[in-house]
Amino acid sequence: MTKNCKSCFENIHFNATVCKECGRHQNLIIQNLQHVGIAVSIVMLLLAYQQYKDASKDRVATTEALKNTEIVESRVRVFKRDIIEGNIRSYKILLNIYKFRMDNSEHPESFISARDNISKKLKELRKELKKAENELDVSIKNQ
Ligand SMILES: [Zn+2]
Repeated sequence: MTKNCKSCFENIHFNATVCKECGRHQNLIIQNLQHVGIAVSIVMLLLAYQQYKDASKDRVATTEALKNTEIVESRVRVFKRDIIEGNIRSYKILLNIYKFRMDNSEHPESFISARDNISKKLKELRKELKKAENELDVSIKNQ
């Protein structure tokens, strides 16, 4: 006894579950399960690709944000250094004014403590400037 294959219509044994000609299963549900499997695989592949693309986008955004943060930090350091430099200039002018007054005053001793305080402040500012410049060097090297 024979029957026709449901897929290629060749004559096959009546009890055959798989066609000897085309290799297809004679139960349509089982035959179509193969397609379902392929379809699921394709969907999974597409989802994986989408996830990969999203992850890439996130990574680019993160890298960009990090770069911007570094730029801002670097600018803050430059700004800090500029402020300290400005303060040093102001204190230098102040010091010169007090020196001039001492040289031309009848009571120079009244200016001594003011001059010493300004000198002390200048020393502190120069230390701060050195520290700020070192920080700036480090941030420039890291870029
Ligand atoms: Zn067949």
